[in-house]
Amino acid sequence: MEPKSIYGLINGCLVDLHYRQDLAAELALSKVANLINHEQHSWKKDLIEHVFSPSTAEEILSIPLSINGGLDVLFWTTDSRGQHTSKAGYNFLMHQASREAPSSSSFVLFTAGFWKGFWASTALPRCKQVSWRVVSGYLPLRAKLIRRHVDVDPGCNLCAEESETEEHLFMHCPSTCQVLFASPLSLRVDNFLTFADFWRHIHELHDSEVMALVQTTIYMMWEARNHHQFQQRPSSMEDILQRVASVQAEVRVGASAPATIERNVAWCGPNRGTYKCNFDA
Ligand SMILES: [Zn+2]
Repeated sequence: MEPKSIYGLINGCLVDLHYRQDLAAELALSKVANLINHEQHSWKKDLIEHVFSPSTAEEILSIPLSINGGLDVLFWTTDSRGQHTSKAGYNFLMHQASREAPSSSSFVLFTAGFWKGFWASTALPRCKQVSWRVVSGYLPLRAKLIRRHVDVDPGCNLCAEESETEEHLFMHCPSTCQVLFASPLSLRVDNFLTFADFWRHIHELHDSEVMALVQTTIYMMWEARNHHQFQQRPSSMEDILQRVASVQAEVRVGASAPATIERNVAWCGPNRGTYKCNFDA
């Protein structure tokens, strides 16, 4: 029998699934659960490679499985309440289409005005750089590394409950989701459908202090994640907010410090019997 072609969602991407309908029927494969080895929390690799086309099998096998083996629940991750609506579905597909456009990256999701306000903020350059990588989708998050076939654990290393994506790490992770709300901004990130919506909202406030505070907080959340991952040093929400406050204080001191006065020093020749060498770094 010819391979049957249907469309399905794999890792949030619409893909063409080719599978052998006769084999699927023969092996009574009607659910995704039939493809999972539940004791070992792993895919049934041989079975998948037998039933699906090589490209589809590769896509399926690249999907991370829960390491905790939790119970299945119906949950729409792009909605803060976990519920699917047609509007949320439409926004999700538009978001995916933008990400996969030939011009690539989430740059297409933001206007030139957004980026002007983004770079004009008073945050430290390193905070703006990391935030730029977050907005542009360039952070080496585990979910991305897995798609590039890097052998890493796909789970968030702060909570081990979900895949590590921008949305998870900065919006939904139990370890960080309260940080922006507890900050002087009192921002509820779960009010936003996507992370891009969150950034657009910040831009539309047209307040460079707010943009700077968000960029600094995002930087500190990323730093906390790295401390936890590479140095096994966990950070509490209070630790992150404390670091944000100290960086903000540093920025304010720098802004109010008097500018260095440049003095014109007239060149004079060397003393008798000595040489003088002038050079520039
Ligand atoms: Zn997490």
